[in-house]
Amino acid sequence: MCEFSKQVLHVGEMASGVQLTIPVYRLKSAIAGPKVYIQANMHGAEVQGNAVIFQLLEILKNVEFKGEITLVPYANPVACNHKNGEYTLGRFDPITGVNWNRMYHFNDAIVAPFTEQFLQAGDDEIEAAFKQLLLDEIVNKLEHNQYGLTTGQRIAYQLQRMAQQADIVLDLHTGPISSKHLYCPEYAKDSASYFNIEHTILIPNEFDGAMDEANFCPWWTLQTEFQHLGRKINFNKESFTVELGSQEQINLEVAKEDARGILSYLTYKNVLANEYFKPVKMTRYACYLPDYKAFYSPMGGMVDYLAEFGQPLPAGEPLARILRMDNYGDDQLDKELNDPIHYLSLDHEVLPILHFASASVNQGTELYKVFNKFFVL
Ligand SMILES: [Zn+2]
Repeated sequence: MCEFSKQVLHVGEMASGVQLTIPVYRLKSAIAGPKVYIQANMHGAEVQGNAVIFQLLEILKNVEFKGEITLVPYANPVACNHKNGEYTLGRFDPITGVNWNRMYHFNDAIVAPFTEQFLQAGDDEIEAAFKQLLLDEIVNKLEHNQYGLTTGQRIAYQLQRMAQQADIVLDLHTGPISSKHLYCPEYAKDSASYFNIEHTILIPNEFDGAMDEANFCPWWTLQTEFQHLGRKINFNKESFTVELGSQEQINLEVAKEDARGILSYLTYKNVLANEYFKPVKMTRYACYLPDYKAFYSPMGGMVDYLAEFGQPLPAGEPLARILRMDNYGDDQLDKELNDPIHYLSLDHEVLPILHFASASVNQGTELYKVFNKFFVL
């Protein structure tokens, strides 16, 4: 029914000469259609996406689809193997300290001269030429840069070279301890309701080095630039960061549900040939990126996380309480200051999305992330 292939991509080498490799799976249909790119595990501890890719491959054995689907588990072999004691770290390059998902490339200076040159061209010609321009940029970075690249850039650019040839890109991550949530470009808001994910963060056209942005920002910028010149084009490119719950765990049954949610979205995008995968009915909440707030701990201590994910938390209700055993017995001196238990709350309603993975926190640790000013999608 479809052509299956596996490639082993070499993305770098370690001090001992050990090769850094990434497995790349491709499913190619005989019927023309959109190109889809899905990767997982760019951050070391965020492993559920690998299980989702497994389930997607299993399901797609028996499902008719159009176009081409590229699936890349273990997208970052360095982060994947970055253990410290019983924990996987792998959110930041341990050598440079840079977030592994902030190393992709987009130079927005290429867009204005391009639109000028192609203002009179046909839509298909524009799309093909711009895709080629993006590819040339990355190949130039990878192969014609005598000053070299960091380990992370070399990995990121090789992934990006594959991803930016696709119409649809999904970068599978997880939070620390987290509900499922989706980072969605504002223009693709309608698509968010086809994933089986209850929480969506709507993000603007600002490039900050992440995989999803590296794929939608160029096309969004191009469309906007053409619009300024009086020409309306929709390239129909979409790219999302899909946060699949908590880090450090896989659940193959949940992964099957996650895969079905992705296939529901891909059905909507005309990748699947029939309507078998439909979005689950649920209340989907959204907020804009500036309203997606981090709540930092006002004090050090041991945290008892109280607020449930996905349940609107009324003003004044506690997010968490902090245990300070060092204050125990001192509360005769100053009750307020020396109470061994402190409740933390906000003066307005929020929707808790995720919290820090450990119970012991310093003053200033990011305790919770919440939707403020949220609405039903
Ligand atoms: Zn991540």
